[in-house]
Amino acid sequence: MRDATIAIHSGYEVDPTTKAVAVPIYQTVAYAFDSADHGAALFNLEVDGFRYSRISNPTTAVLERRVAALEGGVEALCVSSGQAALNYAALNVSELGSNIVSVPQLYGTTYTLFAHVLPSQGITVRFAESDQPDAIEPLIDDRTRAVFCESVGNPAGNICDIAALAEVAHRHGVPLIVDNTVATPILLKPIEHGADVVVHSLTKFMGGHGTTLGGIIVDSGKFPWREHADRFPMFNRPDASYHGLIYVEHFKEAAYIARCRSVYQRTTGAVLPPLSAFLLLQGIETVALRVERHVENARRVAEFLRGDARVAWVNYAGFPDSPYHALAQRYLGGRACSLLTFGVKGGFEASKKFYDALGLVKRLVNMGDAKSLACHPASTTHRQMSEEEQRKAGVRPEMIRLSIGIEHVDDIIADLDQALGATGSDFGGLLTAP
Ligand SMILES: *Cc1c(COP(=O)(O)O)cnc(C)c1O
Repeated sequence: MRDATIAIHSGYEVDPTTKAVAVPIYQTVAYAFDSADHGAALFNLEVDGFRYSRISNPTTAVLERRVAALEGGVEALCVSSGQAALNYAALNVSELGSNIVSVPQLYGTTYTLFAHVLPSQGITVRFAESDQPDAIEPLIDDRTRAVFCESVGNPAGNICDIAALAEVAHRHGVPLIVDNTVATPILLKPIEHGADVVVHSLTKFMGGHGTTLGGIIVDSGKFPWREHADRFPMFNRPDASYHGLIYVEHFKEAAYIARCRSVYQRTTGAVLPPLSAFLLLQGIETVALRVERHVENARRVAEFLRGDARVAWVNYAGFPDSPYHALAQRYLGGRACSLLTFGVKGGFEASKKFYDALGLVKRLVNMGDAKSLACHPASTTHRQMSEEEQRKAGVRPEMIRLSIGIEHVDDIIADLDQALGATGSDFGGLLTAP
C-alpha cells in the first residue's frame, strides 16, 4: 500500500465483535484473565494479549502499527510526548559512563535533555561541530552507544545526509537514531536510508491539528545487537528486572523496542492515553494530504518572502542556491519542508515588530499544525542557550521560524505582507541588512 492508504488503514481490521469501522477507544486500565494460568502465561510473554495499559493498550497498539508501517519499521512504542520518546530512545542504549554523539542542530528541549539532563544521570552527549559525517566520526569511541540527528533540523532547517551518517555509525558498531518529526514519513523514511531507530513528536505534523501531545519510537529491526554484545549487554544478557529474559533471544529483531517497553515504559510510565492515540490516529488519516498542501504553501510563501525588499534573508531548502538543495532533492524528493526561517531587514527590533503585528499567523511555540504559526526561537525555544550555542544550533537573534499551515496561501501571504509593513522598512531597500 502507498502512504496515503497506510495512513488510513494500517494496523486495524474491522473489530470482529462489534464491527466498529473507526478505531475504538479502549478506555481501560486492565484486561481480565481467563484464569490464573492465563494470567501467568501473559506475564511470561508466552501468549499475546493485554495486561495493563501502562504497558500496552489496543487503541495505542493501532497507532504503533500504523506509524511503524509508514516508517517501514518492525515495531513501535507510543509514549506521552516527543520528549519522552527521545529520553527512552537514548536511555534504552545507554549505561552509566556511556556517550551519544549528536549533530548540533537540535530542537531546543532535546538540546537541554542532551546537554544537561542525561549528563546528570552519567550519560554524556558529545555535540559535533556540524552535521557532516567527518565531524561526527572522530567523536565516536568504545563507550559510544548511538549517533543522533534530526533528519531535518528544527529550527535550523539543515537536512542530514542520513545514509552517510548511518554508514559512519555502523562502521563503529553503533546505531543511528533519527528524529523525523519535521520531515514526517510522507517526505522521508530514514530507515530506507540506514537509520536504526526513528523517533517522532506525533504532536506536530502527524497529529496535525495542535490538539494532542504524543511521541513514538520506531524500531527498524535491522541493528545487529547480538553482533555487538560487548557494547550492548542490555539486549544480550538475562534481564534481572524481567525474570531473566534475554531480549535478542525472545524478541529477535524487535529486541530494542521490546526492552524499551518492558523496562522504561513499564517502570517509568510515560504512557500515551488511549484517547490521545485516537485523536492522533484521526490526524494521521490525512497526513499525506496535509503534507502535500503544507509543502506547496511553504514554497509559495518562501518565494514571496525572498522577493520582498523588506526581508533580509530566507532559509528554505527548496531554493536552488540553498546549501541543502541537493539533499532536499535526494531525501525529500525535492519537496522542501514547510518549516522555514527568515530575518527581516532591521535585525532583532524589526523582527519583533513583524512578530507582534502578525494576525492570522499565530505567535506560539509549536509547528506542524493545520494553522500557520510563527515562533521567535532566540527568546523562547532556544533561550537557555548562549549566543554561541544558538549559532551552532542554527539560531540567529533576529530569526523568525514559520510553520506554514494549510489555509489558503493568499491569506497567509496577506498576513505576512501586512506584518512586514510594521517593520518600518515599507520602502523596501532603504534599510540595509544587519
Ligand atoms: C516538538 C519537537 C519535539 C518534542 O516533542 P513534544 O511532543 O513536544 O514533546 C522533539 N523533536 C522535534 C524536532 C520537535 O519539533
